[in-house]
Amino acid sequence: MNPLLALDYELAIASLGNDYYDDVVAAEFPQQILRFRNDDLLVKLGLDPSQVSDEDFGEAFGKFANPSHPFLALRYHGYQFGEYNPGLGDGRGFLYGQVRGVDGELYDFGTKGSGRTPYSRGGDGMLTLKGGVREVLAAEALHQMGVRTSRCLSMVETGLDLWRGDEPSPTRSSVMVRFSRSHIRFGTFERLNYIKRPDLIQKLLDHVIAYYYGHLNQTESAERYVQFYTELVQRIAELAAQWMSVGFCHAVLNTDNMSITGESFDYGPFAFLPTYNPEFTAAYFDHYGRYSYGNQPGICKLNLELFQKPLSAVIAATEMTTALAKFEGYYFPHYKQLMLRKLGFESETTPVLDELLITTLQLLADTQVGYHQFFFDLSQAFKLRWKQDLNSVLNETALMPEVVGNSGYQKWLQLYHQALSDVPESGFDSIEHLLDRVNPQTILLRPQIEAIWEPIAQENNWQPFDELLSKIRSGK
Ligand code: AMP
Ligand code: MG
Ligand code: MG
Repeated sequence: MNPLLALDYELAIASLGNDYYDDVVAAEFPQQILRFRNDDLLVKLGLDPSQVSDEDFGEAFGKFANPSHPFLALRYHGYQFGEYNPGLGDGRGFLYGQVRGVDGELYDFGTKGSGRTPYSRGGDGMLTLKGGVREVLAAEALHQMGVRTSRCLSMVETGLDLWRGDEPSPTRSSVMVRFSRSHIRFGTFERLNYIKRPDLIQKLLDHVIAYYYGHLNQTESAERYVQFYTELVQRIAELAAQWMSVGFCHAVLNTDNMSITGESFDYGPFAFLPTYNPEFTAAYFDHYGRYSYGNQPGICKLNLELFQKPLSAVIAATEMTTALAKFEGYYFPHYKQLMLRKLGFESETTPVLDELLITTLQLLADTQVGYHQFFFDLSQAFKLRWKQDLNSVLNETALMPEVVGNSGYQKWLQLYHQALSDVPESGFDSIEHLLDRVNPQTILLRPQIEAIWEPIAQENNWQPFDELLSKIRSGK
């Protein structure tokens, strides 16, 4: 028996009745060639990876064979680039099933590229192979960097050729299974508001709280709804801080891509930041930079504000206004904490650390050196301290000449030393380890992705992909 099919599927969302989804069937593909399997996640599901074969993956998540339950295309709407779109929904995916992890939490298996549904509009319901490769890599990279994210359980090449305007044609295709806490989005609620069903909003909210905010379940009704929204504000603010610190630009923060669990998901034209530039925009079709790197916290807050519309069916507007006003109070301390860790400091912020952070960002903006390279170099510079000059601590030879030669460098260095002066020398080892842990050398910049894509496209050579993946996953 295929262990993936024998999992204890628990279609919790089906208990809500049929107002939230449509039954669909998967496309049939000519081939199932497994290109990625996530054994980490098998362990989370209580499976022994050695007992799950590649064929098992192909059968379950490529052929979509023998399910004991229907596949559900979830209904949702959303604000896309500020415009409300009631024509959305799972257009190229469905909820394959829901399974409890060994941690007792319920997880979704959601497909991407599994064929047309009632929500496909003009689309083919498919996912390009490159799109699959990019989502696998993005999710593993973000996970490794400590960002709350969905991950890919599998990616299967289908043998089907796709004709897409923006890709060299024909292009290869893949089908992916995404593993996430939930595929319920802000847009799932927005749709219920649009079709004027406050009863369904309350029902769905009760479900969300029961499954994903279980600690609020004890609280009295009205109170727990406010607590849910407040906690969501916190989770989303922290997620935005995580993206900002790791230099990640999601690129399409429409409300249908905002999960109610505060997990990052649905990676399309994402990019990691080449250099520190708040105006950096990842999607070529984002003409006004709405979802630029620097706009992400503000857009998240705006999406939370838009989410008040459906929630007003059950939560008082004034309560939500108060909760949303806490966004910055959640965002800034978290961002600061994560950035200071990139500089090697775990401690509470002090005036020196605050100034060091501001000066660092200024130096990054002025020099336009690689955002990630700067922090990796810092970890190397710090490592060299014992061999070279104990007094200066940082060995400047590891830093880029553009940094050392910048007019702001001396001030930055002085602040760095000042911050270190509060640390006993015995604490330098932990700084070194922290710098090393949070500042990997391998970053999924676009040239890195292109470099592994070329061998796949030209000669079906997956070795560079596997190597990049293992570097990313080990945090090297
Ligand atoms: P996204 O930009 O990936 O969040 O998708 C926005 C909407 O377009 C969702 O309703 C998707 O299901 C739908 N969609 C995206 N690509 C396709 C496709 N190739 N075929 C059908 N629907 C699609
Ligand atoms: Mg989406
Ligand atoms: Mg390292």
